[in-house]
Amino acid sequence: MDEQDQPPEWPPQPPPGEDEAFTLAQEQGGSSYHAEIDPAYAQGALEKLRGLIRGNGIDPDKVELKDFKGETLEFLCATKLELKTKISEKRQAGKVTGPQIVGSDAMMREAIAREKSKIMHNADVINRIRDVLLHRKDKGFNIHNELIKLPFLHKQFAHYEACNACKAKGAVPCVRCHGHGQEMCPRCHGNGFETCPQCNGNRQITGSQGKPHPCTYCHGQGKAQCRTCHQTRKIQCTVCRGRRTIPCKTCNGHAWNTHIAIVEIDAVGFFDYNRDALEERVVSVIEQLGPHLIDHVNARPVDMTGEGQAGKGQEEVYLPYLVHIPNGDALFTVEGEEVPAFIFGLQTLLIDMPPILEQIMEPGIKALEKAATGQGDAAGAVRQACAYKTLRLAVKAAMKLPPKKATLALLKNTEAGLSDESAEKLVHDAALALKNITSTPQRFGTALGVLLTAGFFILYFLVLRAQLPSTLPALPGGVPARLMADLLILATGGAMTLVLRSLFRKKALKRALGRLAG
Ligand SMILES: [Zn+2]
Ligand SMILES: [Zn+2]
Ligand SMILES: [Zn+2]
Ligand SMILES: [Zn+2]
Repeated sequence: MDEQDQPPEWPPQPPPGEDEAFTLAQEQGGSSYHAEIDPAYAQGALEKLRGLIRGNGIDPDKVELKDFKGETLEFLCATKLELKTKISEKRQAGKVTGPQIVGSDAMMREAIAREKSKIMHNADVINRIRDVLLHRKDKGFNIHNELIKLPFLHKQFAHYEACNACKAKGAVPCVRCHGHGQEMCPRCHGNGFETCPQCNGNRQITGSQGKPHPCTYCHGQGKAQCRTCHQTRKIQCTVCRGRRTIPCKTCNGHAWNTHIAIVEIDAVGFFDYNRDALEERVVSVIEQLGPHLIDHVNARPVDMTGEGQAGKGQEEVYLPYLVHIPNGDALFTVEGEEVPAFIFGLQTLLIDMPPILEQIMEPGIKALEKAATGQGDAAGAVRQACAYKTLRLAVKAAMKLPPKKATLALLKNTEAGLSDESAEKLVHDAALALKNITSTPQRFGTALGVLLTAGFFILYFLVLRAQLPSTLPALPGGVPARLMADLLILATGGAMTLVLRSLFRKKALKRALGRLAG
């Protein structure tokens, strides 16, 4: 990783003379100010271009900077935070502790309103909101309509209410016995008597000599005292067990409930600056970089304690920044040919540069194209293309990733000089070329696998299988062991073919591309 990839220091150290610039920018409000630029800046851009070109067929020393006109652009911008209050209410059984407890519902409303106004007029709270923003990776810079959670502004209020459902008793009459504590005997259905269990109501039973005589259990009555309720016709209520009441479900028997209001104040952030005061191409890069803008500019939060940050009565907080962006127009020469570029930001982004890499890598690109069509020695042509660093990247990406991801990986590693369309085509060609290199050996591997498998099957089905004892026990689930063995053999055959196929593909890549295939 080179120096340019380091994230900028936060807060950025102001360059000398910055305070004057700040005063000026502040006085000018929405306009921009143009300051001198460090001459080393253009040199950084040149090194960047040399780095891109190195390894792509041209001596980096033949890349030169012919002309540079640059400046440090300074302007004020701000992130506006709109505070959104979300109140949700719920009731919980019992006296819940944790939330701030107030005396009544009305007092709870008051407390919420007080909390909101306290937040809006408290410099400390505004500083904490600011800290949350500045601790984000993007420092809240260049965000659009983004929700920013402010957990320290989440608060719960509550008041206790006597339970309505049980009239604050904690218990309600039992629904089964209606508060009587007893219910009808289920055996005799409240009759007190049951059919005699000895004679089944026949009043007599057959004796040992087959002679009927009166039932001794019911004394010939056919019915007897209920064995469950002993003629009381009732039993203890099975729900309340005779207690006549059951715990109130609403308050869980606590007689009180807690009415909780959850107040969540969060912010929605909007970044803004005066677009009209900036060049159109600068605005375009700012929009494209989005939340990554912070990595490319010096942005110093402007301390505006007290007035100005919180609008009166409005639920908004403003966090202004003073932004410095070095930028300029460079004219490079590559082997004498002029290459213009717009240089932007701390990492000297090369913007709007002609596709210079496509030009200097042309022989390699042609070779890759040829390998993709499958004419001639595909492996040789790919090796030829891989002499170029950027094409090597394309081939490696195509080997490991699906086309879309491979294109993105290539573009990520090639900041300029290669158009998106060309990157896509290079990855496409590389994938086809690789397929051409590997398809024959891969087919060979597959064929070999199939042959070996066939031999193996013949051996198994004609010879080995007959030797399996025919009385193999069935496996759990009733699957015959012999069937299991057959399936196992078939699966092994399939796997063997796949392994051979991939083995031959790897070998072909290794033979064609050498170290690169690793
Ligand atoms: Zn209750
Ligand atoms: Zn009951
Ligand atoms: Zn009886
Ligand atoms: Zn009974």
